[in-house]
Amino acid sequence: MKTISVLGSTGSIGTQTLDVVRHHSDLRIAALAAGKNITLLEKQIREFSPCLAAVADEEKALDLKARVKDLDVRVVSGMEGLIEAACISQADITVTAIVGMIGIRPTIAAIRAGKDIALANKETLVTAGHLIMPLAKEYGVKILPVDSEHSAIFQSLNGERYERIEKILLTCSGGPFRGRSASELEKVTVEDALRHPNWNMGPKITIDSATLVNKGLEVMEAGWLFHVDADQIEVVVQPQSVVHSAVQFTDGAVIAQMGTPDMRLPIQYALFWPDRRAMETERLDLFALKELTFLKPDTEVFRGLPLALRAMKSGGTMPTVFNAANERAVSKFLAREIGFTDIYRIIEDCMDAHEAVPDPDLDTILETEQEVYARIG
Ligand code: NDP
Repeated sequence: MKTISVLGSTGSIGTQTLDVVRHHSDLRIAALAAGKNITLLEKQIREFSPCLAAVADEEKALDLKARVKDLDVRVVSGMEGLIEAACISQADITVTAIVGMIGIRPTIAAIRAGKDIALANKETLVTAGHLIMPLAKEYGVKILPVDSEHSAIFQSLNGERYERIEKILLTCSGGPFRGRSASELEKVTVEDALRHPNWNMGPKITIDSATLVNKGLEVMEAGWLFHVDADQIEVVVQPQSVVHSAVQFTDGAVIAQMGTPDMRLPIQYALFWPDRRAMETERLDLFALKELTFLKPDTEVFRGLPLALRAMKSGGTMPTVFNAANERAVSKFLAREIGFTDIYRIIEDCMDAHEAVPDPDLDTILETEQEVYARIG
């Protein structure tokens, strides 16, 4: 029996995690945490019977408390509540499926409480990987990737030694605007950007996929997870989203993981690792597929990727600036306050204005985030 705490249970990864739990009688839920969707959270509490539920918003937490007063569940709120859910003693594994740097503190707390981490919340690793990875080693906990590309790399590395990695081939669908020119990109709308060709995800990561900022964040995430530097990671556009990523080894062998695009597979793999359980999902039909295409990313038009590489190479607080500027710019784009390509302009402005602080502690990371937000407004 494995017991799980899910941070961000009402989101895209959170609901798919619960779907995996639904299919396995040896998985239990100890805690659920959400932002504000208490209607869905209440349903999840009634179905999965956690002993703790955390809601970001205090008033909504009070409302939820009243709604579930017939049940044996404790309702908590705010960052303290989120941390409590992350560390709950009954859980073996914490799934971090919240969006953004808000995930850093609960992830650190969960590691200190000895929980393995099924990590979807890439922003945490991008901005605080230098704190998270050594801490996980110190506490003997595993960081299990949920992101499909990183899960594919992790699966390709099964039984292999990380020192034998020559290169990581990180695949990318190219997003909804693949092939567009810079001037065409200026005019895209929120609706266009939210229409991802292959994956159904939360709004922030869908926009990040359209700008290729997501791929940049993933390059940084891969750097931390697999101990490789930026020059050892090559982004490959694979429009069919069938090859989920690959590893090229020092003897020239390339091992890839393929499959139909379904996030439940990497989620389930993380929850049961090192086991691989059966799953009812659409099977890959190579005869129907006929061909696989591989292209170089257009880094002139999709500037999210080169900006991310610049942030990774600068290191220190620069990935935080890249990430925080993007988070704020994406919410402005979703609120229709700025255009699509303004996202790049805002990230670049913030990075140009910042001098990276090397090896920042948590307070410095969070202060840098606030400085970036204040600059953008
Ligand atoms: P969603 O926007 O769909 O979900 C976000 C979740 O976080 C919701 O449950 C939301 O609650 C909750 N949340 C927001 N703020 C808080 C808070 N302050 N405290 C507690 N919970 C909060 O995001 P995704 O599932 O798409 O993405 C989650 C993470 O996984 C991101 O880091 C993303 O990059 C990564 N990822 C996602 C993939 C995908 O396929 N979706 C693939 C790979 C990685 P509520 O809705 O109730 O407000």
